[in-house]
Amino acid sequence: MHHGVITYSRNAFLPLTTVCRNRCGYCCFRTPVQEGCIISPKEVLHTLDCSAELGCTEALFTFGERPENESGFAKYLGAIGYSTILDYCYDMCIAAIDRGLLPHTNAGIMTYDEMERLKDVNASMGLMLETTASVSAHANSPGKDPAVRIEMIENAGRLKIPFTTGLLLGIGESVQDREESLEVIKDLHKRFGHIQEVIIQNFCPKEGTPMEHYPAPGNDVMHDTIRMAREILPPDVSVQIPPNLADAKDLLSYGVNDLGGISPVTIDYVNPEHPWPQINELKKLAGEFTLRERLCIYPQYIRKGWYSERLESVIKKLEHDLNLNVNYPEI
Ligand code: SF4
Repeated sequence: MHHGVITYSRNAFLPLTTVCRNRCGYCCFRTPVQEGCIISPKEVLHTLDCSAELGCTEALFTFGERPENESGFAKYLGAIGYSTILDYCYDMCIAAIDRGLLPHTNAGIMTYDEMERLKDVNASMGLMLETTASVSAHANSPGKDPAVRIEMIENAGRLKIPFTTGLLLGIGESVQDREESLEVIKDLHKRFGHIQEVIIQNFCPKEGTPMEHYPAPGNDVMHDTIRMAREILPPDVSVQIPPNLADAKDLLSYGVNDLGGISPVTIDYVNPEHPWPQINELKKLAGEFTLRERLCIYPQYIRKGWYSERLESVIKKLEHDLNLNVNYPEI
């Protein structure tokens, strides 16, 4: 019996800042402008060094949207020598490339010009569509206007940026809204051919947030939406779930074929014997499926040459290393 392939990537997680101009009702990431709201360059470089040592292939830069809009932020950013978070991100991307890692940036809403500049130092980028519906969870989040998000994903397509997007389930949207959101993603991919993966993520109520008493979507919602995603999206678009979901194993049979990125748990503890406890977990999850490591830029985009010259040697080296790994069942 043929079982499919489940992919994942090894990443270094770098949340450059927790400050964000939006106020999503479910957010447990954002903080006010305060001491420690920016990861220092020293810390970023340390994480990059450890991650490279542990065999990570991806530097995932993800952070609050347009933090400069928040008063007082400029002072903290100025203290590390930058006037915009995207300038800081750009330099850290170069540091990642220098260490043999491929940057993937999710900075929330960016303009065409901002993405064009970052493309030079990023192998892929991402922005969750979340939903095409107007939901009250987004009432105070200008960046969550569906039209604004769709426009950015279009611009990424025009720029030929391999792109990750996805749905957030259970934030007040209906089943029809989920279907519409998937149709919109499908159409974007038909026009530009740049959507490499779609994350199906469930809302989790977090204490201290406005939506802490809101019910989390049930397993049935996850099952139905994954099945819907697999039906609506073209076969070259991966369906991804975060592997830490309670019933991830169960979800694989509904059409999931990617488990996203995992980071070394103890980033500072470089122990070649057990640096990746989660890989064993992933193997258990994958069961009969073949678990295969991938890069943040999918092979079809490497073949099409959708990357800057600056990334070429790292992509070629990592691709070569991964292809070698395929021959070894023990990753
Ligand atoms: S965009 Fe929303 S969910 Fe993301 S960090 Fe900002 S407030 Fe939180």
